[in-house]
Amino acid sequence: MRICMLGSAGWYDTPLATTPCVYIESDEYNIFIDAGLGFAKADTVLNPDKPTLLLISHFHLDHVYGLHTLVKLRLKQPLTIAFHADFLPAFHQLVNPPFTVPVEHLPYPVELKSIDFGYNDHIIYNLEAKPLKHTGLCLGFRLELDGLVMAYCSDTSLCPTAVELAHDADLLIAECSNVPGTIDQGWGHMSPEEAARLAVEAKARRLVLTHFTSSNYPDRSAKEMAVEAARTVFGATTAAYDGMEIIL
Ligand SMILES: [Zn+2]
Ligand SMILES: [Zn+2]
Repeated sequence: MRICMLGSAGWYDTPLATTPCVYIESDEYNIFIDAGLGFAKADTVLNPDKPTLLLISHFHLDHVYGLHTLVKLRLKQPLTIAFHADFLPAFHQLVNPPFTVPVEHLPYPVELKSIDFGYNDHIIYNLEAKPLKHTGLCLGFRLELDGLVMAYCSDTSLCPTAVELAHDADLLIAECSNVPGTIDQGWGHMSPEEAARLAVEAKARRLVLTHFTSSNYPDRSAKEMAVEAARTVFGATTAAYDGMEIIL
């Protein structure tokens, strides 16, 4: 399984990083999680011969404002876009004039599917989704692909559902919005130590920190400090950067 971190910033883009998007190439699918501006690079990584799935955790703008680049893709197989049914009005508002072209005008077939709490075999086998602890509804994901488990927990504070989603995961991709040593002020975000505690409690094998809030993490040295702080709690931690590739 090949994973590429296309967008590793949170809130807004910086010269170093774009907003959230993860690409996973499995044996059968191209899977994207979240469509921040990192999604604008989707065409550089995907395999156009495989069906493509885009999962959206929530509709804070940093997770969806790359949707207007859907028109850039040239897919030979259909695209499925999946999110919780509560976000359907927001999706239709955003992916339509005056913001961008409607899905009916894209140069490939698109199907919209609703993600439910629990298993979502109607979208892809072994996709589990649960509500995280954020300012509004936000889904975390657990995917079992090619015999490996990958969990994605962003945006969230450290909560029991995140631990459940990441249980025994081969790879946990978790957000790191806050700086080391800080306590969240009710936004529903984590510090590096909290993300590391999540990995420990879940018994995950490997942690990749992402969603580095741009105001908190303006440069590489700030991210290095985050990794240092996280490693005091969970050794197998690395920081995502745009273009980072992980082979599982
Ligand atoms: Zn965010
Ligand atoms: Zn958010």
